Amino acid sequence: MESTLTDYLESQEDLVREAALALPHQFSQCTYPLGPLRQAVYLCLTCPEHRGICSACSIACHTNHEQLELFPKRNFRCDCPTTVVAHQCTLRAKPEEENTSNTYGQNFRGVFCRCGRPYDAKTERETMIQCLVCEDWFHESCCNLQERPGTREPSPAPVPAPAPPDAILEEDDVASEASSSGLPPPLISGNDYESFVCAACAFDHKIFQQWAGTPGAIIVVRDGVNAPWRLEQGLPHDGITPLEVDVSLTTPMTGAKRPLSPSDHSPESKRIRTSYGTPELMRTACLAPPSNSAASQIFAGGIRAALDQATSLGTGDIFFKEGFRNRWCRCATCLPLLQIHPYLLEEEDTYEPPEDPDSGFSLEELGMRALERLPRDRAIDGIHAFQEMRNDLMSFLRPFAQEGKVVNEDDVRGFFATLAENSKKTQS
Ligand SMILES: [Zn+2]
Ligand SMILES: [Zn+2]
Ligand SMILES: [Zn+2]
Ligand SMILES: [Zn+2]
Ligand SMILES: [Zn+2]
Ligand SMILES: [Zn+2]
Repeated sequence: MESTLTDYLESQEDLVREAALALPHQFSQCTYPLGPLRQAVYLCLTCPEHRGICSACSIACHTNHEQLELFPKRNFRCDCPTTVVAHQCTLRAKPEEENTSNTYGQNFRGVFCRCGRPYDAKTERETMIQCLVCEDWFHESCCNLQERPGTREPSPAPVPAPAPPDAILEEDDVASEASSSGLPPPLISGNDYESFVCAACAFDHKIFQQWAGTPGAIIVVRDGVNAPWRLEQGLPHDGITPLEVDVSLTTPMTGAKRPLSPSDHSPESKRIRTSYGTPELMRTACLAPPSNSAASQIFAGGIRAALDQATSLGTGDIFFKEGFRNRWCRCATCLPLLQIHPYLLEEEDTYEPPEDPDSGFSLEELGMRALERLPRDRAIDGIHAFQEMRNDLMSFLRPFAQEGKVVNEDDVRGFFATLAENSKKTQS
């Protein structure tokens, strides 16, 4: 059933209250009972506790609170109905115990990237990229994909100097342009890679270091501190296919010690390793490419040197091209390293609120539904703060209200299509 918007848009608060009531279908289910899962997590900035809430609770319970969408976090359980969050959960009356298995990184303090900047949807011009492993967000400029926009002044400026009035005007102009074009294209755009692994995570896991800078695992390097940043992904190491593999390749190329397991000493495993041409051999032969020399140099130098802007020849961040999950070597040395993080081998599921096609669509429900469809794993035009998005949606809808026109699903879809289009433009 559709209603004219004038019914809804007396004020935004009315709308939000109305929306909360009108959403029994899609957003009536807090994800708490489902246990820890990968889901879009929202940080409520109004509530004093720095905890995460599910999308249903963000709409139903914290409607009038200022919120920041943190995008997917894995193994996360909604904190809204727990005793830790004082604000009453409207979806689950019974208070639940504290979630002890949730991880609260710096994003839960509203801070992002290794530069530790807070995110402000009103002023942030940069695209940010989510790390596949730690799920923190990184500025393109911090990954040396482009200059930091508009910062000629020293970067850590905790107390910004008060700007003269005309400078403020200019800043506003810049901010309004940012969504249509604004920034020069980055060295590599979100369309050209599937997943990103940040330097800290790459330094933490040997498996990334071996592949960094080889085909399909792009790193950003420079040949000297005054040289420009460029992409490095080595040369395809041709000719090696599992069937042509030589036994000499069974020795891991990094020189890393092969982890000992009890089966290593069993006669059976010996037999497998010496039986040429069998599928067992294919699994034991390491097919990882020879490591890239620029990457090796970065990882040998340690993370502190890699992240020191003055001397760094590369951060160690890795951009994995599409299909990277199928390219890993799965030999007895590599596979266990990958299995520590199952999402490296298989794309993981991210929870989506259930669809209910029979429900009477309310205005905001349509909007939220479309919002849920925006790509979450990709670099998008910044982290869209929930509040900002809602404000945009409201200003889009206001003319309908003023003219007493009925909004239909297509209109709302159109709004989000434009939004997605704009975010693509900023990327390329
Ligand atoms: Zn919840
Ligand atoms: Zn709140
Ligand atoms: Zn709740
Ligand atoms: Zn940063
Ligand atoms: Zn990371
Ligand atoms: Zn291998």
